[in-house]
Amino acid sequence: MAIVPEAWTPAARRALPAMRAWREAFHQEPELSLEEKRTRDKVVAALTELGIPPQTFAGFTGVVGLIPGSADGPVVALRADMDGLPVTEATHLSFRSRFPGRMHACGHDVHMACLLGAAAIMTRGGRRPVGPVKLLFQPAEEEGRRGGALPLIERGCLDDPKVDYVVGQHVEPNLPLGSVGWKTGPFMAAADFFRITVFGRGGHAASPHQGPDAIVIASEIVNGLQALVSRVRDPLDPVVVSVGSIHGGTRNNILPSEVVLEGTVRTFRPATRDLIDRVFHRRVRALAASLGARTRIEYLRGYPTLVNTPAATRAVAEALRVEFGRKHTIEVEHPVMGAEDFSRYLERVPGTFLHLGVGVPNHPSSLHSATFAPDERALIIGAATLAAAADGLQRNPP
Ligand SMILES: [Zn+2]
Ligand SMILES: [Zn+2]
Repeated sequence: MAIVPEAWTPAARRALPAMRAWREAFHQEPELSLEEKRTRDKVVAALTELGIPPQTFAGFTGVVGLIPGSADGPVVALRADMDGLPVTEATHLSFRSRFPGRMHACGHDVHMACLLGAAAIMTRGGRRPVGPVKLLFQPAEEEGRRGGALPLIERGCLDDPKVDYVVGQHVEPNLPLGSVGWKTGPFMAAADFFRITVFGRGGHAASPHQGPDAIVIASEIVNGLQALVSRVRDPLDPVVVSVGSIHGGTRNNILPSEVVLEGTVRTFRPATRDLIDRVFHRRVRALAASLGARTRIEYLRGYPTLVNTPAATRAVAEALRVEFGRKHTIEVEHPVMGAEDFSRYLERVPGTFLHLGVGVPNHPSSLHSATFAPDERALIIGAATLAAAADGLQRNPP
């Protein structure tokens, strides 16, 4: 079945005032992972207003909606994340955060408004989807370990009706406003975390010979970890090992009895992820032992690699090309080392994760920064993207 060109964008443009109001309401009251209660209430109110019965969960802030299809097409789930970050907003927006120390600095306010906008144009815009569309409002994407996708999946968001495809998107300042980025295969990294405690003897800094010096050994470990990246894995297989914090000691002439290092490991291939995990433990223990110190290593697995299903991604990219034109539908060249728990859905259901361009020339802006302020025109593209992606997958299932 052919797709009607420019099918969704005009309707999305008409939905802008509603999307703007939703986005501003979310933005003003950001909430941290798993605390998204006001946010959930706003989502519930918006869905109710759209005539979509919201499904909520005791003790969990996720919300699921279902738009029935006009025909028997496949079931497509569209997902938006809900949480803000512990950042104090420094924008001059009229609708900036009312809560010091909390901000929608990752654009999840935009994601939710786009998903509500997509729901609005699929229910009121004249064209109904040809199959059921599930709306997944997912908390705790920023939490990093267990995240919010797994608990939502455990609560049955991919069942009844069983979801055939899943689509999500994230605002991306490196792509121009008005464009959408897509990529088949591995797109975002697996993220693991570590905490290494190095136990030294502690004592007078003038007598370092009396026992293992936790500061010196921690420094050796920081350098040794970089050799993991450069000498253990295939140079064509991206890996990042970063130490993000080092804590130890109180003053210049006292050697601390322990130093704590914390950091993150990013990988793409599952085999590389396991390899780095193994070699990491071996290397850290051996380094410390060779210098006479004991260590405790905590190594936690975070989100898995996000792998876009090739066939579903190409089907979505084709729908977006018809919707926005070839120039605005950009194949992203390289995967990114950031992580996303959208990967949890893609481990279970085919689908794709897209990047929504919010980049504006001469306005440097980065995710998680206190000045991040994506342009509201992205709401139009974001809502049309989700609707067109669902429609494309339902009319031309790969
Ligand atoms: Zn983020
Ligand atoms: Zn984010």
